[in-house]
Amino acid sequence: MRWVVKIGSNSLTDENGSISQDKILFLIEDIVHLRHEGVDVVLVSSGAIAYGRALLGKGSKPLTLPEKQALAALGQPHLLAHYRDTADHFGLKVAQLLLTRSDFDRRERYVRIRQTTDVLLAEQVLPIVNENDTVSVAEIRFGDNDILSALLAINIEADRLIILTDIDGLYDAPPLKVPGAKKIERVETWDDALLLKASDRGSVLGTGGMQSKLNAARLATEAGIETWVMRFERGSLERHFRGEHTGTQFVAAPRSLSPKKRWLSKISRPLGTIWVDDGAREALLDKHKSLLFPGIVRLEGHFEAHDTVRVVDLKNDEIGRGIALVSAVDLTLLLERRQRGEAVPPVKEIIHRDGWVTTAAQPSSNSSF
Ligand code: GLU
Repeated sequence: MRWVVKIGSNSLTDENGSISQDKILFLIEDIVHLRHEGVDVVLVSSGAIAYGRALLGKGSKPLTLPEKQALAALGQPHLLAHYRDTADHFGLKVAQLLLTRSDFDRRERYVRIRQTTDVLLAEQVLPIVNENDTVSVAEIRFGDNDILSALLAINIEADRLIILTDIDGLYDAPPLKVPGAKKIERVETWDDALLLKASDRGSVLGTGGMQSKLNAARLATEAGIETWVMRFERGSLERHFRGEHTGTQFVAAPRSLSPKKRWLSKISRPLGTIWVDDGAREALLDKHKSLLFPGIVRLEGHFEAHDTVRVVDLKNDEIGRGIALVSAVDLTLLLERRQRGEAVPPVKEIIHRDGWVTTAAQPSSNSSF
């Protein structure tokens, strides 16, 4: 069994904002318990910036993004050293994985994350993951690691995602502001009202809040991974394993797509668009065929071979996403030759059926499926 456990900076720090030795100890102790029960854990831990802040005595002062990135670079090795020294007492080895959002976009990188994690878990090592803050571009920063933990859970096909935080679940109103706010025990369906209910508790140490936990829970549960948001306390994971459930449970949807199609439709962000004619549209949607060169009308974007692209019909509606087997540069060359009436060398599929997922709500109108 595999669990991804995510913990935020707020749950790891003491009242002065310093990383708490005790909290790291309680967390590792709990993970060791889980491992004895046969649960392989991947830990997603924030705390690098908080550590850096404490080391440089920055208190709770607001920081620019480059300052935060610098503090993360400073704090991360100290954070890991804390984990390593604590885990050593239990005979547990730790490894560090620093990831960015774009590592999940490219298939090769995505697969490497999985392979590396598989080897570490097989060797009984605890992988500890954080965002690679220093090289994360502002617009695509995970920021709080909630989404990172969901993407990772999907990547390694985890059985459960547990988001540990300083509040014991999702409430129907902000619990600190609204007396009588009620905890929601179980979430089975996603509606806008639910998303609005999320009380935001972002603070100076963490960048998240309940909203980002909900987004992560939605991503994971829609991919078939049961998710829990619960308070971090000594022994909370062990009690959870024994069935003493606290927090909010987000019920998993059935796993309907293959891992590769899930990645294509929900995780990798397309790096270009290919417009196709009606014949290619029909071949893709109705005949379940690959996309061939003659059906391509035009393209946009700077994708390389093996990047994800959106495929759009002549009405400008997205019909699906696929892994392009030819780069934008090469495909443009071929389109230009065709336009000039020159012979085009035979090219195989531009998108193979195995690297295709239909996203159109309605298949083609004359669909026989
Ligand atoms: N990657 C950041 C850190 O480790 C996350 C900060 C946060 O929790 O918002 O410090």
